[in-house]
Amino acid sequence: MKQPIDLEPNCTACAALCCVVFAFDRSESFAIDKAAGEVCPNLDAHQQCKIFSRREHLGFKGCITYTCYGAGQRVSQDVFGGTGWDDDPTLKERMGAALSVLRRIHEQLVLLRSAERLPLDDRERKLHEEIGKILVPETKWSEASLSEFPIDSVTNKVSTFLRSLRHHVTG
Ligand code: SF4
Repeated sequence: MKQPIDLEPNCTACAALCCVVFAFDRSESFAIDKAAGEVCPNLDAHQQCKIFSRREHLGFKGCITYTCYGAGQRVSQDVFGGTGWDDDPTLKERMGAALSVLRRIHEQLVLLRSAERLPLDDRERKLHEEIGKILVPETKWSEASLSEFPIDSVTNKVSTFLRSLRHHVTG
């Protein structure tokens, strides 16, 4: 039987992608400016956050509120076969592009998983299944399949579907 997709971050299987590939601006959430692809100065040589338990106190609460919904470990392991970005400077950008799409895919899966708990009728369950198949294809994700994936239109499809389920919660 196919294993359900893990939608919880597993930082031990991820190449610290969120600490590298994304940009952040100095603000209430981040104490510094960081460009996309720049390694956060708080990341140590073993890809561990040196200030992990003090992030909020030191002005990095944005790192605490961010979640990749489990996409980080999949990009690191499934799409890039466990290769670290430090092995090849071009990888940061490529891994960032893959993570941007796969994170949105995982976010839609989280929403679909919540919808699963509603008393869906046959038509709704069928639609739920159809959208799920689009988000979880039979073949493994690759850089190419992620870059070609119509994430905006699939996100719209999920939103429309969820809106159509409102009657289950409003009565
Ligand atoms: S502060 Fe820590 S968790 Fe946040 S981006 Fe930097 S290394 Fe990563």
